Amino acid sequence: MTQLLTGKEPAQAIKDEVAERINALNKRVGLATVLVGDDPASEVYVRMKHKAAATVGMYTYDHHIPGDTPQDEVEDLVRGLNADPAVDGILVQLPLPDGLDPDAVIDLIEPGKDADGLHPHSLGLVVLERSGGAVPATPQGIMRMLDYYDIETEGKLAVIIGRSRLVGRPMGLLLNHKSANATVVFAHSRTRDLPAITRQADILIVAAGRPGLVTADGVKPGAVVVDVGINRVDEKLVGDVDFESISEVASAITPVPGGVGPMTIASLLLNTVVLAESRIAAGT
Ligand code: NAP
Repeated sequence: MTQLLTGKEPAQAIKDEVAERINALNKRVGLATVLVGDDPASEVYVRMKHKAAATVGMYTYDHHIPGDTPQDEVEDLVRGLNADPAVDGILVQLPLPDGLDPDAVIDLIEPGKDADGLHPHSLGLVVLERSGGAVPATPQGIMRMLDYYDIETEGKLAVIIGRSRLVGRPMGLLLNHKSANATVVFAHSRTRDLPAITRQADILIVAAGRPGLVTADGVKPGAVVVDVGINRVDEKLVGDVDFESISEVASAITPVPGGVGPMTIASLLLNTVVLAESRIAAGT
């Protein structure tokens, strides 16, 4: 029987940990979100993040600004949040509207407040397998999920579809760390014969944003399939994999929605409290 890897329970375990750590700090912990424009999906994600923060006793500061805000004003907002002592973590909701440079905005976030773990400094620490920074929220959440469900990564062949700054690339790095010891292959839009590559995977992580990209013929019997994709098709949320057919082949699979999404949010909260603890320890 295929195991359903739901995010609800492991995400709750992380949120319980975050709530305890906030309590122990005896200080308000604040997460600031920056949402530029009116993308309905982004609005939903930010609302969910605020709601989840409230359940663990974290304060949130909501900065929702118009989609035609110029680059320099978005950057000034981030600079202001960097300087605001009430803010422990800053999240810039991606994607930004066309015409804005997301890298320039993310690069401006003070690394000590980089709640999503996307600043080059945070990613550099992940490359070097060093602690002390925020770990990208979605890949961190997936690692936590694999751990929660006792899915062994050591010596396994992990194929990641996608190599973005947000998901694919850091995902592969975390699986490659000595704490996980998977053998990692990155696939992307130029990969030839994708099913031939994915069929070899013991662990298949799909983060392409392409509904139906992977079907049962691209999955090895008994593989673990983690579907990161979130796509709206005919008013329904679907992932990147054909859930029905793959459920017949895989040993375990994440649902969409209700799989990776809750883990991303919980990891964002965890990053924020870890950053708050570091700031207190450093006396800043
Ligand atoms: P992205 O920046 O657009 O990156 C997509 C990656 O997929 C790229 O590396 C791209 O290859 C690759 N790709 C695209 N089409 C492909 C194809 N036909 N075959 C093989 N590879 C292909 O997207 P992202 O930010 O990483 O997000 C990926 C998906 O995850 C989206 O659906 C997003 O909404 C979702 N997401 C979910 C969560 C969650 O919490 N569940 C969090 C973040 C993102 P190239 O590099 O060659 O272009």
